[in-house]
Amino acid sequence: MHTDVAIIGAGAAGLATAAFLRRRNPSVSVTLLEGAKKPGAKILVSGGSRCNVTNVTVTEHDFWGGSPAFIRQVLRAFTVADTLAFFARLSVHLHEEELGKLFPDSNRSRDVLEALLREVQNAGASLQADHRVRAVSTMPGGFSIDTSHGEVVASRLVLATGGRSLPKSGSDGSGYELARRLGHTIVDTTPALAPLLLDERDTAHKMLSGVSHHAEIAIWIDGRVAERLNGSLLWTHFGISGPLALNASRVWARAVLEARPVAATMNVMGGAPFDTVDAHLVALAQERPRATITTLLAQALPSAVVDVVLTACRIPRDTVASRIDRESRRRLTRTLTEWPLPITDTRGFTYAEATAGGVSVSEVSARTLESRVCPGLSLVGEILDVDGRLGGFNFQWAWSSAWVAAKALAG
Ligand SMILES: Cc1cc2nc3c(=O)[nH]c(=O)nc-3n(C[C@H](O)[C@H](O)[C@H](O)COP(=O)(O)OP(=O)(O)OC[C@H]3O[C@@H](n4cnc5c(N)ncnc54)[C@H](O)[C@@H]3O)c2cc1C
Repeated sequence: MHTDVAIIGAGAAGLATAAFLRRRNPSVSVTLLEGAKKPGAKILVSGGSRCNVTNVTVTEHDFWGGSPAFIRQVLRAFTVADTLAFFARLSVHLHEEELGKLFPDSNRSRDVLEALLREVQNAGASLQADHRVRAVSTMPGGFSIDTSHGEVVASRLVLATGGRSLPKSGSDGSGYELARRLGHTIVDTTPALAPLLLDERDTAHKMLSGVSHHAEIAIWIDGRVAERLNGSLLWTHFGISGPLALNASRVWARAVLEARPVAATMNVMGGAPFDTVDAHLVALAQERPRATITTLLAQALPSAVVDVVLTACRIPRDTVASRIDRESRRRLTRTLTEWPLPITDTRGFTYAEATAGGVSVSEVSARTLESRVCPGLSLVGEILDVDGRLGGFNFQWAWSSAWVAAKALAG
């Protein structure tokens, strides 16, 4: 079978590339080759089955990985406004929630997937599900693609195979091998947006399992704070999860990959520094000289967290705050601002929402997303060494990169 453009992978990026390309140039034949029987598994599970399609504000600063200039150029070619207009045309209207996240009004990820599948069909692209691609090679005038249903020959090829996260969805990292065979360098991959495991011996997370609160995590690399992240943290039986832990996991995993000494601490006082918190505790105790330390801290923190903190500092719960000696108070302040988090690992690709690393963007044109090492090959979505923080950024990367590649392929 011959096609002008073959797209391997019918996830967010592959489906969008097919639709954009056919709408711009209906004379180009487009075939999507998808390994899974049912495409779009990741869209279905995304955003707690509500699909956080994008964010009101998306810039290169919301991403890690490849060069910011590269990411900026791609994002500017297809903006959040373009995403809203595209989905509105597909009758998927979005609304804003906390932190600028945009969800479909129906709150159903299935509506997003079905709209994309309908658009691919209406645009006239051919979607071949259950077509696993085993190998790809170049041939005069194009590519020979070895699928589980025989050979497909294409003049141009798009790799939209995603990363390694949630491998049961079909994104098992096999696309990296295809890219490598075609001459690309793969930046080592690590889980991103994954929950974090804490040392088995740590009792705090077991006692606090199910409790959630706002915090700041500092990741220390080579003895210095390399990154400070804020957000909501959820304690679990294995460690920590929630947006804050997921965002921090990427930084942690890269440091481990690079064999750099890494540690993490947490500040549960809104990120306020030691001196400010210490002075605040003194002031609070003066204002309410008869209040217990438990009462005062419970104004800002869940009572279960207060209990764990006071136990760690060896301060009885019913201690009157104004009676706490300086040394104990400073110990308490230290715990509130630099609570050590004994992270042992991430929860791995099975639980990760994204993949850090991937095809090096230095080998890809930001203007067209065409490979610089293999003419006729384009790369879109998560296969590239670009990963966003939590909040709709990874899907925006899929839409924007799909647009850039499709526009170039449409000629
Ligand atoms: C649980 C979860 C929740 C998420 N929630 C959100 C969210 O709300 N908002 C957000 O922005 N991001 C979210 N993400 C991230 C987002 O889903 C991904 O960044 C995005 O789906 C990547 O799109 P993609 O098309 O590049 O890759 P994928 O969606 O991974 O699609 C790749 C496709 O290629 C196919 N494929 C792979 N190899 C082959 C092969 N050899 N042959 C044939 N087919 C192949 C796979 O089966 C798959 O269908 C979430 C991720 C997870 C795991």
